[in-house]
Amino acid sequence: MQPIIVSLLIFLSLTLQAQKNIFIQPLGEVSTQVINVIKSSVEQFYGFNCIVKPKVNFTNEILADSRTRYEASRILKKYKSTENLLIITEKDIACEKGSIHEWGIFGLGYRPGVTCVVSTFRLKRNVSKDKFYDRVTKVCLHEIGHNLGLVHCNFDKKCMMNDARGKIKQVDQEKIWFCDNCKKNIGIH
Ligand SMILES: [Zn+2]
Ligand SMILES: [Zn+2]
Repeated sequence: MQPIIVSLLIFLSLTLQAQKNIFIQPLGEVSTQVINVIKSSVEQFYGFNCIVKPKVNFTNEILADSRTRYEASRILKKYKSTENLLIITEKDIACEKGSIHEWGIFGLGYRPGVTCVVSTFRLKRNVSKDKFYDRVTKVCLHEIGHNLGLVHCNFDKKCMMNDARGKIKQVDQEKIWFCDNCKKNIGIH
């Protein structure tokens, strides 16, 4: 083999090794458009290679106690992964918050960790498709940010790592952007 080909192959294999994979796991029926939006925004923002898994079905063990929605921490526990995994569902998810037993949320992720879950349920009410996709993108990038070790941001209201506290208004005022402090904390530029 010629030296130039050998060095090209070494370069290629190093590049491939450097690119991290993230699996996208649809939980129940999730629209193909939503999956595609997530895939392209995660690839663009983090440079991950996204692999979409075949959907899995809901089971009773991940239901919240009211049985009207799903419990995010039970979902994370059941699907806890050793590789980067973003679980996406169209059904409502909740978690315990202070004295509230089932607090409806947009998403939840381990910090640090490799597993997070996002629900589109509370993101789609009364908005255009574009705005809905914008929200889905921000919430997914936020939860992956927690997996990468980021805490909630208090530096800039436009940063995606703000705590939305269940308020869609906060998500809407964010940009698809991390402030310098959050960028520095996960080493992206
Ligand atoms: Zn958060
Ligand atoms: Zn920030």
